[in-house]
Amino acid sequence: MSESLVAVRHASRIYPYGQSEVVALSDVTCTVEPGARIAIMGPSGSGKSTLLQLMGGLDRPTSGEISWPALGPPAGLRPAQVGLVFQTQSLLAPLTALENVELPLLLQSVASKTARDAARDALESLDLGEIADKLPEEISGGQAQRVAVARALVSRPRLLLADEPTGQLDHPTAQHLFDVLLQVLEQSHLALVVATHDPAIADRLPAQWRMHHGVLEAPT
Ligand code: ADP
Ligand code: MG
Repeated sequence: MSESLVAVRHASRIYPYGQSEVVALSDVTCTVEPGARIAIMGPSGSGKSTLLQLMGGLDRPTSGEISWPALGPPAGLRPAQVGLVFQTQSLLAPLTALENVELPLLLQSVASKTARDAARDALESLDLGEIADKLPEEISGGQAQRVAVARALVSRPRLLLADEPTGQLDHPTAQHLFDVLLQVLEQSHLALVVATHDPAIADRLPAQWRMHHGVLEAPT
């Protein structure tokens, strides 16, 4: 069996809260395998974002361990080959859609022509070829989220973490984003972990994990 993309072992994350503290994550153990498609469900405040941030290397556990066996130790701040999509608008306002998508490659010192071609391909795979030269303020919320997905995918990650990517979209727009995303995933072995409130989204993935008060119920 191939190695896990991410392995979480007895991870807890405790935030200071005034004189006391908040246990955002409590002794969570789980793995994400190559090609996995997982929805993390749970009420607001149950620890979904905290878990995704740990898996993405954006945060460290207070106790326990996170590792990326198949990806190797993080070379810089974060593990390579992990793409991230957030709930809120995260595109850089002065840059066009195309420039937003090519930016991660330019930051990795990919040659500009190669970066531009890859960014165009990523936009086209998400049905966004037409809006490549528009600024974030000139496109819809659904298009902006798809650009954010293209930006996460352009570096060809092996794991995509999406934190309520459809949380600010109306139902048809959310479904469309997911249609396009699943279509892109069909042709790849990319693993997806998506935190969502929306059962219509979660039902489309083969695995559903549930969180309550920082505890991850045994993944089924
Ligand atoms: P979810 O994504 O499921 O809504 P979160 O992971 O954002 O849950 O939050 C889990 C708990 O941790 C909540 O009680 C939240 O208030 C708390 N929390 C999250 N981030 C912080 C922070 N930076 N500082 C203090 N408390 C936090
Ligand atoms: Mg959250």
